[in-house]
Amino acid sequence: MSYCVNIKRMNEILKELQKEYKIYAPVRFEKRGRYSDTDLIRYAEINSIEDVVYDEKSDFSPKEVIYPITQRLFYFTEDEYMESKVDDKKILILARPCDINGFRRLDTIFLKNGGTEDIYYKRLREKVKFILMECKKGGWDSCFCVSMGSNKTDDYSLAIRFDSDNILVEIKDNEFTGLFANEKEVEFTPEFVTSNPTKVNIPEIDSYELLKKIYDLDMWKSYNSRCISCGACTAVCITCSCFTTLDVTYTENGKVGERRRVQASCMHEDFTTMAGGLSFRKTAGERMRFRTLHKIYDYKLRFKDEHMCVGCGRCDERCPELISFPATINRLYDEVEKLKKAETIKKDIRQTASIEEVK
Ligand code: SF4
Ligand code: SF4
Repeated sequence: MSYCVNIKRMNEILKELQKEYKIYAPVRFEKRGRYSDTDLIRYAEINSIEDVVYDEKSDFSPKEVIYPITQRLFYFTEDEYMESKVDDKKILILARPCDINGFRRLDTIFLKNGGTEDIYYKRLREKVKFILMECKKGGWDSCFCVSMGSNKTDDYSLAIRFDSDNILVEIKDNEFTGLFANEKEVEFTPEFVTSNPTKVNIPEIDSYELLKKIYDLDMWKSYNSRCISCGACTAVCITCSCFTTLDVTYTENGKVGERRRVQASCMHEDFTTMAGGLSFRKTAGERMRFRTLHKIYDYKLRFKDEHMCVGCGRCDERCPELISFPATINRLYDEVEKLKKAETIKKDIRQTASIEEVK
């Protein structure tokens, strides 16, 4: 069922929902942007529908609602520990299709990877329902969700379209039907983006030999001087999930305190540094190679259904060095095609040589 709801009534419905839910959406923070006099758009709790920024892409993803940048996990003393508490309320997140698809990737990493569920992720994730924000105009310049197959989703409880004075709402989850009982019924199902200005070709890496050659490509070296290893790209990514843990102690002997989960980045210089100073990815280029292959090769190899990257394009917009992730993927595609072509030529030469030998 779908309804047309005016702004005033929608705010009354939100108030009703707030009795049970915390409601999160992209919100504008004035003058908090990266450059002077620019705004920041990031996820925060809303109190009215006018708080929602629906016509601009958020700088940060909604992952922070359930996977915060820093999160208290538990408290400890010398001989016991106590789990941190979470709010009793359930969670509603207004999100675009790419981000809802991104949450599925996070679920895979936190709940299905290695046979152990991350309880701190799970206890928040179980509370979440999505309100799909329709996104149909082709997205923004940096979006490439269509290439990544993440432009559509049916994983939502409500879907909304923002109109000038009204909100169109589709209800898929019976829990919410009663709230809209007196509203005007209309025909509405959300439309999805079917083409983006930015497109990527994902290289098909079908052998370990090819992977080894990709590992040694010169293209990675070009990032050594350009990428400053700031990790901004991973901070905004809906599918990046690396973290470290940090003990904050309350006493001088360090035996009473709290443990926090803090987001980390594979693009940081010290990410793979181990005791004794051993490091697996010393250069920015090596780290870019790891990130790129993780997003468009090895996640899918391991979990089968889909690539990790959903093509939201936030990493592009956030990079202070203007490094484009779709351009990196396309560059890798071209390099892989060249490697495959060279291999075919070599095979042909070998075949011709063996025919000559038979003669
Ligand atoms: S890698 Fe970039 S485009 Fe892909 S999901 Fe992450 S932020 Fe979005
Ligand atoms: S945001 Fe740009 S400069 Fe910073 S780590 Fe990512 S690719 Fe490198």
